[in-house]
Amino acid sequence: MNIDLHCHSNVSDGALAPADVARRAARAGVAVWALTDHDQLAGLAEARAAAEGEGMRFVDGVEISVTWRGGTVHVLGLRIDPGNENLAAGLAAVRDGRLERARAMARELQAAGIDGAYEGALERAENPAMVSRTHFARYLAAIGAVADTRDAFRRFLVPGKPGYVPHQWAVLADAVRWIVAAGGQAVLAHPGRYGLSAGAMDALLQEFRAAGGEAIEVVTGSHSAEQSRHFAAIAAQYDFAASRGSDFHGPEEGAEFGSLPPLDPRLRPVWHEWAL
Ligand code: AMP
Ligand code: MN
Ligand code: MN
Ligand code: MN
Repeated sequence: MNIDLHCHSNVSDGALAPADVARRAARAGVAVWALTDHDQLAGLAEARAAAEGEGMRFVDGVEISVTWRGGTVHVLGLRIDPGNENLAAGLAAVRDGRLERARAMARELQAAGIDGAYEGALERAENPAMVSRTHFARYLAAIGAVADTRDAFRRFLVPGKPGYVPHQWAVLADAVRWIVAAGGQAVLAHPGRYGLSAGAMDALLQEFRAAGGEAIEVVTGSHSAEQSRHFAAIAAQYDFAASRGSDFHGPEEGAEFGSLPPLDPRLRPVWHEWAL
């Protein structure tokens, strides 16, 4: 069964509306699908209606931005109750400050010779309060300052490059607890992206588990085959459940639905207790 538990709509930094993401997932053969917008639940109702109309099983999800040891990590919440007020309040606090950060990013880009980045990014954000580096990357590509959005995340927007402005996101243990208290399962997203040493990854995994985290993403759009194997071994070693998700953001922007390899059948999938 094709199960895809990580993707974005234009409620956060995806390119398509929730219903269009649902149709695209269904067309690609996805049978069980979660929408996991960054720090936002506003797309879930539309996504569920469209998904069920397409005959898919829908999973309410979210991807929470977390600051851990000065860097950013992402925690997915799966099967959360979208009406949970504690979770909603936590996410509202995490979202707060994106506009101000965007102004600071634009000032840095201006100093690096890029004009109009604040307006350009906001124009591309369906929801201004969710303006993100992705919207800046799309603007940089649109004006020809970079070849494409991938290139934008090499030359700009990352630590040490113009347009990177550090931001204080959620505390790891808080994010995991909001998810668990909302009836969900917490999954550490794309662990291969964080560039952590083995020792730091061990500390992150221990802290994540102690807070109530139960799974790690093993197969995901930004993992190489080698990273998927590595984190499959880590999942087995630490006895974490394993998840799979494309992290689709839009057509021609990285991973596509239906293009991922399956999870290693020796792993316990995060959906092992779901009645599928
Ligand atoms: P923000 O939450 O504003 O810091 O933006 C983070 C988003 O930028 C992530 O959710 C990704 O969609 C995107 N992103 C971060 N790093 C990269 C990268 N190296 N390549 C492509 N997209 C990236
Ligand atoms: Mn994103
Ligand atoms: Mn992420
Ligand atoms: Mn994501």
